[in-house]
Amino acid sequence: MCGVFGYVGKKDALKTCLQGLEKLEYRGYDSSGIGGVVGGHIALCKKAGKLAELKKALDLTSLNVAIGHTRWATHGAVNDLNAHPHVDAHRSICLIHNGIIENHETLRKELEAEGVRFASDTDSETVAQLLAKYYRGSLIEAMQKTIARLEGIFALLAVHKDHPDEIVAAARACPLSIAVDDAQTEALAASDPNAFFGMALNVSFLHADETALLKQGTVLFYDAAGRPIAKKTEKFQASAHPPSKAGYETFMLKEIHEQPITMRSAMVGRMEFEAFQPLARVAHEIDSVLIFGCGTSMHAGMIAERWIETFASIPARVEIASEGRYRPLLFASPNTWVIAISQSGETADTLAAVREAKSKNARVLAICNVKNSTLTREADHTLLLQAGPEISVCSTKAFTSQITTLALFALFLGLKKKKCSMGLLETYLNELREIPEKIEALFRKEESLKALAKKYHRYDDFFFMGRNYMYPTCLEAALKLKEISYVHANGYPGGELKHGPIALLDPSFPVLAFA
Ligand code: GLU
Repeated sequence: MCGVFGYVGKKDALKTCLQGLEKLEYRGYDSSGIGGVVGGHIALCKKAGKLAELKKALDLTSLNVAIGHTRWATHGAVNDLNAHPHVDAHRSICLIHNGIIENHETLRKELEAEGVRFASDTDSETVAQLLAKYYRGSLIEAMQKTIARLEGIFALLAVHKDHPDEIVAAARACPLSIAVDDAQTEALAASDPNAFFGMALNVSFLHADETALLKQGTVLFYDAAGRPIAKKTEKFQASAHPPSKAGYETFMLKEIHEQPITMRSAMVGRMEFEAFQPLARVAHEIDSVLIFGCGTSMHAGMIAERWIETFASIPARVEIASEGRYRPLLFASPNTWVIAISQSGETADTLAAVREAKSKNARVLAICNVKNSTLTREADHTLLLQAGPEISVCSTKAFTSQITTLALFALFLGLKKKKCSMGLLETYLNELREIPEKIEALFRKEESLKALAKKYHRYDDFFFMGRNYMYPTCLEAALKLKEISYVHANGYPGGELKHGPIALLDPSFPVLAFA
């Protein structure tokens, strides 16, 4: 997953593009880069590391049109050379790419045989070189010819030195939103429309090999065959303010402290189940549930799986999306409710698994934090987390909002399936209501948490163990410890420790039991 952003218009293109990249950094932080046209030349700057590194190294002063990228590397090491944008051998074209070009090796060989010299190890550079091969004066036509040769998935933005007022875009199975302002003074492109902050825009989404030609205030769209098309637009008003740490040292700390509020907001309109009413018909019709997620979202799914079976008495199964997408999904049928959980709504494996399940006519419910994301657009229904932007890549508040939403959803399903008694329902709702306060109480124990951290920070291995709902919670705890503290940790079902792993335990190996 990478982030792409493009700007052509009356504002400062370089500055606007950098602002856009700040909002897209969550999509990749291996490297970033920015490029465009100035004075009839391609100018660019790219740097390995976070966006802050690019800002330090930035030696561009202005650009007529700008395209920018945040990279999460799939092909080629993380270094300056492999950072995007990529240029063709004559430095006429500058290109950024989100996705994977599966036939890049074949294309590279073909181009090398024609004398083209490559500068990077990425799959993406083949697209820049192919564009140059097909360019005959029209960049959009070159793009249409190029994507016809590509296998794989992509969102592409490209500029040409002889067209200082144009950006060309194309997409297949990767998100790409295109926007024009009401006053027709600018045109923008981004992987995520939430990168367009503070602007009243008309947004369209590119799909299935569609291409677009962006100029100041106008966009022309083309279908996969290169025929002009009209696209539906949606009004979009993004937040006027860039995200702030609100006095905390990191976004992660801020987001941890937001949890009492974000959990309450996940409950709004859902404690009496009125927000679930649009789901009532599907709730009656389905007889099984299949849950997809990756990482933290998958752990939330594991908890939901247990709730759904307990409250609604229907079979539920969670699949790691990156595995599920490659399985025959015998479990998925028109009577299966596929629940896809993703904070961003852009997790590529979750989207692929959803598409696979949809091909089997399963109904899809998205549990997502980002309105207008690809997942919410492709799902039949969405329950938004209402948690506000989660900037930290390591998920915290999204997890607790996911499980709050899923707990209420499972209770709703239990009611609809007439399997959940009013007594049980009341008990759970009352417990849920109290959780935000319990979290607040935990924050008041910061000093004792610090003392515990001091005691344990020298250990290199941890086991977290717990049973039933606590088991996925242990997996999540172990994931957090690995990701944040770079310490080896394992989550284990409570009853399994004695079946082998106990052999590892000695006084240097702490075990945390969740009960
Ligand atoms: N495949 C490209 C690269 O490795 C883009 C990566 C992505 O979209 O995640 O540079």
